Amino acid sequence: TYVVTENCIKCKYTDCVEVCPVDCFYEGENMLVIHPDECIDCGVCVPECPAEAIFSDAEPQATAHWLDLNRKHADQW
Ligand code: SF4
Repeated sequence: TYVVTENCIKCKYTDCVEVCPVDCFYEGENMLVIHPDECIDCGVCVPECPAEAIFSDAEPQATAHWLDLNRKHADQW
């Protein structure tokens, strides 16, 4: 899965939401999150994010903290 991280906090862009083919972005408390069970790992959102906030879970930036936070907030919907 892909995961939204720190740089998204208070970001006002929604370019990622517009390009996601499966609409798996959701509103968190002060940032967007990706639902890990819905993301199809296409990677299309990564270059669209002006804040460079989105990473694959294979990358070191996708820490357990961000993985947990994305799942927690995406599951609320
Ligand atoms: Fe959506 Fe693809 Fe980004 Fe996953 S990697 S959140 S499916 S655009």
